[in-house]
Amino acid sequence: MRPLLALVGRPNVGKSTLFNRIVGRRLALVEDTPGVTRDRHYADTAWAGREFTVVDTGGFVPGDNDDAVLQGVRAQAEIAVETCDVVVLLVDGRSGPMAADAELAGLLRKSGKPVLVAVNKLDHAPAAEAGAAEFYRLGLPDLFPVSAEHALGIDALLDAAVARFPPATLEDAAPPAEREAPEAIRVAIIGRPNVGKSTLVNALLGEKRLVAGPVPGTTRDPIDTELVHAGRRIVLTDTAGIRKKRALAERVEKVSILGALRSVDRSDVAVLMLDATEPGVEQDARLAGMVEEKGRALVVLVNKWDLVARDQRKQEAYREALKWQLRFVAYAPILFGSALEGRQVGKVLDVAVQLVDQFRFRASTPLLNRLLAKVVDAHPAPLADGRPLRLYYITQVAIAPPTFALTCNRPRSVPQAYRRYLTNQLRETFSLRVPLHLVFRERPGHSSKKPARRRPRIR
Ligand code: GDP
Ligand code: GDP
Repeated sequence: MRPLLALVGRPNVGKSTLFNRIVGRRLALVEDTPGVTRDRHYADTAWAGREFTVVDTGGFVPGDNDDAVLQGVRAQAEIAVETCDVVVLLVDGRSGPMAADAELAGLLRKSGKPVLVAVNKLDHAPAAEAGAAEFYRLGLPDLFPVSAEHALGIDALLDAAVARFPPATLEDAAPPAEREAPEAIRVAIIGRPNVGKSTLVNALLGEKRLVAGPVPGTTRDPIDTELVHAGRRIVLTDTAGIRKKRALAERVEKVSILGALRSVDRSDVAVLMLDATEPGVEQDARLAGMVEEKGRALVVLVNKWDLVARDQRKQEAYREALKWQLRFVAYAPILFGSALEGRQVGKVLDVAVQLVDQFRFRASTPLLNRLLAKVVDAHPAPLADGRPLRLYYITQVAIAPPTFALTCNRPRSVPQAYRRYLTNQLRETFSLRVPLHLVFRERPGHSSKKPARRRPRIR
């Protein structure tokens, strides 16, 4: 499980500066997809060989005015404690400890979570230790003098954070699809508060009457639920988080992204539930964007359809509007149903199973190359940076999501529109309604002057 590192602190202590410092290079690599607002308050990154997600909790709570500060820090502490593995309490080393710092420290101390105090804005290294010392008063012994702006002390802080993460498991070493017996399908059910997630989980379990309880090997909470559908083993991930009503999530809707993050990380396919009576909510698009960013398969379920007149024309109009709103995941199937009445709930799992099979699809190399010849013939590759682009060879290098490597003469200059064309041709030919990745490579022995390679995408 990818651990979560939270940054908490009152306004202006430097949380977003530290966040950018920690993820910096990685954020620049995340492509912007038209139509999706990326949430820049969380990001995946890695330190000392350990992948983790860093969260700027300040970005999830509203209100920067003085009255709201205490309320804001309390909400931050709640988010951090509820969703994260290690908390970094950031304070301002220039101002000394303030009431809001003490408030936060108190809440965090009580939680029992590992807390590191980063004393920021100590830009002058020789005096940093002394500058940090007065924060011992907060009663949290792990103090780290840092300067987020000048990149001082960050390494020591991250070393300490990584050391406090829960130990890495075998699960962390491979993508979900390759971890277990191939028949186990991991499904994340996500959506805003009150869309009907727990109602759906109960409907699925009620229908099956096959609650297997905690998945063997997991400790503490039974976080996952296992059932059998149409002869396939299905694991619903992080159902504990769904069943346990999150008081905070009710108030701070953006937090549902964080709740979903972990569940999606551990799944092959996500079921994104929408509320038919509240169309076009920005948060829905953010959740879809997160699934896309994570490269997982996606089913969209428009729930509470019982509250909308059941009318075929209306449904088609709704579908069209939704397709436009979620055009960056245009490949995802859209279902309409009612978790409350149990309508279409079995269909959700049928589609999830189909998608996972597509997610793990493998195409043979000869077949792919015949296809490449055909699509290049139909639409010759355009110029890349003013020079002819030649595509020589295609092969599938990974599943989950299906990832294809194309050998060509100018891998760094393939126009976006042509990438899309190739992706769409692959999608149509093999009927794949899951995300696909294309990577472009140079022919071995033909590397141009610079050997520098793009780093592979980290999920
Ligand atoms: P946030 O509200 O906690 O997210 O704080 P910001 O990251 O927006 O930073 C608030 C202000 O502190 C900005 O003007 C930053 O440039 C400044 N700041 C952040 N880190 C440092 C630092 O290490 N040294 C100094 N001198 N200023 C910093
Ligand atoms: P969660 O916060 O996403 O887990 O949402 P819940 O499952 O707790 O559902 C929130 C409310 O919506 C509850 O009152 C449910 O009874 C109701 N609800 C859930 N699904 C449906 C549905 O398909 N139709 C209708 N009419 N109400 C629903």
